Amino acid sequence: MPETLVRPLFRFDNSYARELLGLAVPWQPAKVPAPSMLYFNRALAEELGLDADALHGDRGAAIFSGNEVPEGAMPIAQAYAGHQFGGLSPSLGDGRALLLGEVIDCHGRRRDIAFKGSGPTPFSRGGDGKAAVGPVLREAIVGEAMHALGIPTTRALAAVGTGEPVFREDTLPGAVLTRVASSHLRVGTFQYFAARGQLDKLRQLADYAIRRHDPELVDHPDRYVELLRAVAERQASLVARWMHVGFIHGVMNTDNMTISGESIDYGPCAFMEAHDPGAVFSSIDTHGRYAYANQPLIARWNLARLAEALLPLMDGDEPARAVPRATEVIDGFPAQYERHWLTGARAKLGLSRAEEHDRALARDWLALLQAQAVDHTLAWRYLADAVDGEGFRLQALFEDTRPLMGWLARWRGRGTLEASTPAERALAMRRTSPIYIARNHRVEEALTAASVDADFEPFNRLLDVLAQPFDERPGLETYVAPAPPEVTARYRTFCGT
Ligand code: AMP
Ligand code: MG
Repeated sequence: MPETLVRPLFRFDNSYARELLGLAVPWQPAKVPAPSMLYFNRALAEELGLDADALHGDRGAAIFSGNEVPEGAMPIAQAYAGHQFGGLSPSLGDGRALLLGEVIDCHGRRRDIAFKGSGPTPFSRGGDGKAAVGPVLREAIVGEAMHALGIPTTRALAAVGTGEPVFREDTLPGAVLTRVASSHLRVGTFQYFAARGQLDKLRQLADYAIRRHDPELVDHPDRYVELLRAVAERQASLVARWMHVGFIHGVMNTDNMTISGESIDYGPCAFMEAHDPGAVFSSIDTHGRYAYANQPLIARWNLARLAEALLPLMDGDEPARAVPRATEVIDGFPAQYERHWLTGARAKLGLSRAEEHDRALARDWLALLQAQAVDHTLAWRYLADAVDGEGFRLQALFEDTRPLMGWLARWRGRGTLEASTPAERALAMRRTSPIYIARNHRVEEALTAASVDADFEPFNRLLDVLAQPFDERPGLETYVAPAPPEVTARYRTFCGT
């Protein structure tokens, strides 16, 4: 019989397991009784160069539940630490996750394929290592929503039901999430080795991070300071984007902040409805540490923790010089963030030139929304109607339209300095401000139907809607509407551990 070439399901190239021996623990996923595919992201599978046809059915369920470890995978539990709500936990790590391996995608980018909910590991600290269907699907929804909004994010490749109960406050159906990331390097990964004074490992890790995310820095004489600067730049851009879509991560602990600049770990996260700087939805964030408006401040705080971890690597000969240089990067963060925020705000206002008072114009707009508790998403979206028309939909969002009218006159005046036509500006604004976001009541509805009734229709429909957040389509009005205020006031998201 002629030998046929069998296409491998995955072409793994596991640099972390290979190059960072001793920074992770080789481990195997737990077996589950009855794997069933709940969600398979075919487009992402294809982008990763995987055999999507072979993976979408039972074979995929076996693999993405952890029951069958595919050829070439080298599953490892990664070590990391983290400041959680301000306090350092020196030993967290993959307590319910495993890095299955890495692949090079069709654009030549290295991507991690990792499990979440795949059973206990040496980092589990008494936890069961499992995940429930609801939180797993939440990660899938929010990740896909962010991706469609053009915001760097980890994404779900698959969600598989395990056929096994998970015991939380209630008994819940179990699931495993397969997550794709540019890497799972976190601020906390550096803190783990810094906290132990393991400088060789810390240096190996930092050099690895540079090769993977900032290869142009490999031969830079100040490469660790520059790594910090690069991470700060990516986080400044990321958090500015969150702010412009009203996203609240909910648990910006240092173990949930990536080196790559992707959003990661969608637990108690939410998109806000009425614009409110103090908005918090997480049930565990009792003091509002991770409230909407605090996010840029927390990003800076987290970066200061990264700087501390990297300090011993900077200026090996002259440690006293390291502190001011790291401080210079951290002190530069607010301006870096403001720059990204203002660029985003201009785009949302339909402006391409930079004029002196643009920042005040944008800030005053948000103050208007805050004063009248106007829906963040709809206000930005319907503002486009008011470029060249009356903006009835916009006006309807305000109880008192007088302050709006005054602001609109200023904004239209500013618009006349642009080279574009009003119609062009309206079009550009509608490509920047979405009509559909993952509204909390819609997410809950989808998760409840899937988790309680095994009905995936609302989940699949919501994913479809969110895949094209900028294209308003007839028949989807119920995805546009905010939740009734009493629902939002009660809304709490849970960590889902
Ligand atoms: P997270 O809240 O998902 O960012 O997780 C914070 C830390 O707790 C990480 O080290 C997780 O691995 C760990 N963890 C969360 N849930 C569990 C669980 N059910 N079993 C074991 N470890 C967990
Ligand atoms: Mg986490």
